[in-house]
Amino acid sequence: MAGELGNKLNVAVYVVGGFVRDLLLGRKNLDLDLVVEGDGIAFAKKLAHRLGGRVRQHTKFKTAIIIYTNAAGEEERLDVATARLEYYEQPASLPTVELSSIKMDLYRRDFTINALAIQLSHDKFGKLIDFFGAQKDIRDKLIRVLHSLSFVEDPTRILRAIRFETRFEFTIGPQTTKLIKNALQLKLVTKLSGSRVLHELQAIFNEVSPYQSLARMQEFGALEAIHPALTLSPTKSKILKEVEKVVEWYRMLYTQPSPEPWVIYLLGLTSASKAEEVEEVLERLHFTPKQYNDFMSLRETVKTVANTLGKVRPDAYSHLYNLLVSIPLEGVLYMMARTKSETIKKNISHFLAYLRTTTLDITGADLQLLGFAPGPIFGEVLRKTLWAKLDEKVKTRQEQLDFAYR
Ligand code: ATP
Repeated sequence: MAGELGNKLNVAVYVVGGFVRDLLLGRKNLDLDLVVEGDGIAFAKKLAHRLGGRVRQHTKFKTAIIIYTNAAGEEERLDVATARLEYYEQPASLPTVELSSIKMDLYRRDFTINALAIQLSHDKFGKLIDFFGAQKDIRDKLIRVLHSLSFVEDPTRILRAIRFETRFEFTIGPQTTKLIKNALQLKLVTKLSGSRVLHELQAIFNEVSPYQSLARMQEFGALEAIHPALTLSPTKSKILKEVEKVVEWYRMLYTQPSPEPWVIYLLGLTSASKAEEVEEVLERLHFTPKQYNDFMSLRETVKTVANTLGKVRPDAYSHLYNLLVSIPLEGVLYMMARTKSETIKKNISHFLAYLRTTTLDITGADLQLLGFAPGPIFGEVLRKTLWAKLDEKVKTRQEQLDFAYR
């Protein structure tokens, strides 16, 4: 449909980046990025109309996002960018000119494997455009930048290179490796804003095997470049590998609620640091005051609670519940990764599987029928009844009513 519309409007349309890379790799990717040689925003508006969706436009960057509902009833997003017109003055219909603008667009990208495009419009529908040898790099399993100033232009690409290397089990090419080392020697990472570094770290922690990327960052000295307190030690590595296992275990068993893995990894990465050092790290990563307070208090909570978790008696699960229920999921999972005690692991697992989702079969309305006057007593009675249920002292609704009435 996008191609047809391109033909009608006489603009060349391409699908670019991750989607094309993943197509060649045989990996699923539903994120479609389009590049239009012409007015990308006007194109996006027309395409959104055809798809029955809406458009969010970014006039300054000449980009737009189309949000629409697909045939399966799910909301999907389509990114549309404009290949910069300033690189060519001639009419957009001349083939050589078309190629040069898409080439400029692709040349600004990070790695050869991300600089592929497929033409959708005109008579060249489906034509693969590979200016930089990406197909060969995919065959050779290589991550390569497009030019030697790539990391100077944008040092976050160091972290991106490592992330893609781990994800696809590729290797960063020899020349690109040298350029990363140079960039780190030139301390280019220190010039990056905290929020960009945090964003890239978050992306790494959302992958399946973050530890491998962390180990690579350590090898390059990239962790140290972000902050020396993040450097790995054998103990920290052990903790982080455990974190990876626990996150994977949780994801396999539960889809909801989903944790923010980066919080758990950051707890691990700063586990050996003093509070002042952690403060520096959070400042470097440009934490907002709220993020800062939440993280520091979570760090304290897990330290205190972890010690008491082994002392919970099996017939007093309400105690376990009360210890864990107000701790963010990330803290609970971190404690699970940190502990060496099988009992604590079992307790946390029981909390996640059963206790945290246990609810009563009676409500305030039932208490009113039992003759309780509405007020704070409601909360107290219901809470105590829930504890009794968690401790398996009451099971059925009738037993809960009897317990509440006592
Ligand atoms: P993922 O599967 O992680 O979404 P992706 O390649 O789609 O991978 P995005 O971060 O969504 O990654 O980026 C989309 C495209 O934008 C990339 O394929 C790449 O071409 C380009 N890109 C993203 N970040 C940069 C960057 N820092 N420098 C240059 N190009 C970038």
